[in-house]
Amino acid sequence: MHTEAVFPDWPGGAEVAVALTFDVDGEAPWLGEGPEYNRRLTTLSQGRFGPSRGLTRILALLAALDIPATFYIPGHTADHHPDAVTAILAGGHEVAHHGYLHLGSDGLDADGQRAELDLGLSALSRHGVRPIGYRSPGWEIVPETLSMLAELGFSYDASMMADDRPYWEASGGQPLLELPGHWSLCDWPYFGWTPYQGGLLADPAVVERIWVEEFESARQERRVVTYTMHPEAVGRGYALRMLERVIAAMLDQGRPWFATHAQIAAMASPPG
Ligand code: ZN
Repeated sequence: MHTEAVFPDWPGGAEVAVALTFDVDGEAPWLGEGPEYNRRLTTLSQGRFGPSRGLTRILALLAALDIPATFYIPGHTADHHPDAVTAILAGGHEVAHHGYLHLGSDGLDADGQRAELDLGLSALSRHGVRPIGYRSPGWEIVPETLSMLAELGFSYDASMMADDRPYWEASGGQPLLELPGHWSLCDWPYFGWTPYQGGLLADPAVVERIWVEEFESARQERRVVTYTMHPEAVGRGYALRMLERVIAAMLDQGRPWFATHAQIAAMASPPG
């Protein structure tokens, strides 16, 4: 059993802590599928839409509303779209670790997992970033990863789903804060689509309802809620308009504290 993390009251009398998080995957997940994807220019371009267009829209929205967010960036994206990282940092946002080539932990041995972590750290360090948070590519994590995160000095992970509020994981014998997400609060299952895997291409009104309802539940329970998004999905014009409406509903319905994962993690009382 895990131990639920304890927090003081949210700053400024807020009723709920809302983390808007974006995984800037770019071309990495496709290239990570195999070398044949080097030739699949349309698929790669669909990924590239994230850092090259979707991100610009997202950053403009966040700036207009003065909302900080957390951006999980694979090292490959940082290396190939350095301007994207520069723009994210210039907006005052948090940058966190999301692997290097977005390789799923479950398909890697310990050495491969360590390489993904090290290469990702090196890529982000070229932007002067030493991330304290990690989200595993594709939301799968193996026991070795947890131990490595502790060893590498990470403060939190955002890959698991055992609760809908932050909790402590044992990581290499040390406590690691888990900031859980869920597929229902992720844009990809609704708006992601590929010719190989298909997808829903859902009506944004449906997603809007689910996300605002979850916000209301979190508000009533005065807990944290994390939304996970991808610039190549939520950064499409129609989907970003939905995010705008979701944020407006949050501001209308209550007093949210929009915070980065690092800001939320910093408020957790150490387990004891
Ligand atoms: Zn990802």
